[in-house]
Amino acid sequence: MIFHDPHCHILPIGLDLQKLHLGSAESHSDVIRLLKARHASHPDGWLLAVHYDQTRYEGIHLTRRELDEISDERPILLRHVNGHASVANSAALRAAGVDASTPDPVGGEYRRGAEGEPDGVLFELAHEFVTGKVPMPSVEEMTDAILAAGASMASYGIASATDMMTGWFDLERELTAYQRAAELGCAIETRLFLQYNVVFGKRAIGEEALKVAKQRLEATGRSHIDGIKIFADGAIGSATAAIYGAYEGQPDAAFSGQLIYSVERLNSMVQTAHDAGWQIAVHTIGDRSTDLVMDAYEATGDPSRHRIEHAMILSDAQIERLARLNCWVTMQPEFLRRFGHSYLRQLGPERASKLKRVRSVLDAGIRLCFSSDRPIVAGDPRDGIEVAVNRPAGFDPTENISQAEAERLYTTAAAEISFSR
Ligand SMILES: [Zn+2]
Repeated sequence: MIFHDPHCHILPIGLDLQKLHLGSAESHSDVIRLLKARHASHPDGWLLAVHYDQTRYEGIHLTRRELDEISDERPILLRHVNGHASVANSAALRAAGVDASTPDPVGGEYRRGAEGEPDGVLFELAHEFVTGKVPMPSVEEMTDAILAAGASMASYGIASATDMMTGWFDLERELTAYQRAAELGCAIETRLFLQYNVVFGKRAIGEEALKVAKQRLEATGRSHIDGIKIFADGAIGSATAAIYGAYEGQPDAAFSGQLIYSVERLNSMVQTAHDAGWQIAVHTIGDRSTDLVMDAYEATGDPSRHRIEHAMILSDAQIERLARLNCWVTMQPEFLRRFGHSYLRQLGPERASKLKRVRSVLDAGIRLCFSSDRPIVAGDPRDGIEVAVNRPAGFDPTENISQAEAERLYTTAAAEISFSR
């Protein structure tokens, strides 16, 4: 079977592969042992680790004290497996300019000890702030990362993958790295969706520079710029997906969560990218946000050119409308296994059970395909297929599909959307 992964994050997959993986650690002493070995074998720059998970160490977080014993000069940063928290040592906090006098950011927290000193455990925007101080990888490091990601994905049988956040670090460097990786024989074909703001917004690189970079990249025949990516809302686990109604445990409300842009702004961004001839892919998870995205697509007069990413909560009426607009839709079945417990917690059993209505969406004739969103999940297409065929306990089994249907969504249907621009 030849798989395609039309929504993942290729460069971040590769960068994570270059970091220390803590997935095998069962205790604080395991983590410390792995960090010490890594510190000795890779002595330069920040010591970065991924897949830190205190729920596997009796629920107790490491703090900067334990990490300082490995080094108090070299910044050390352990990223939580959920991507919303991390633990930093003193050198990493210093590099970020964080000390006892630093206030918590809105939407984040520096966990503190008795004296008000940050103890190194960072949540949400505090985690993002310190993570943002990690030096940007060089073009060589990015190239190596893309090659590593390609090799790993090819080992799953994936032939092409679409990066959904190109331009997060620096668009020109990233495009150069994708070009070099392709020239060096990257094991997969790479397709790129550029962040809106690096093409049209305040970080735009300029039409001419983009044209030149695109020509060089596409001359390889193995890497292409396909479209523009926009985020409309957040995620269910952090109660930031824009939904109708309230999250569990919150007071009644007509709608909850977070729209990243005002309705007017979203409409104007979609129209701008559409008028410039781009295919657009919008991240929308909540039902409220998906209505607004459909409004914006419909207003362009050609909604069938564009893609909807995730669409995790859909009413019958929304499914009908999606079919009528004929948008492309990508879904990520592996999420149900990986994040199912947080969906149940945030939405309660009834609403959570109806997430990802794959059967209903297929029956409505919508142009649907699967993808992984790796590195958020492990990203083996077989895992996604398995989940779609047999949804985990607590998730409505009438939305299961057959093995053959699931395979098609990760192969021919995924190829169709990947090459649809
Ligand atoms: Zn994504």
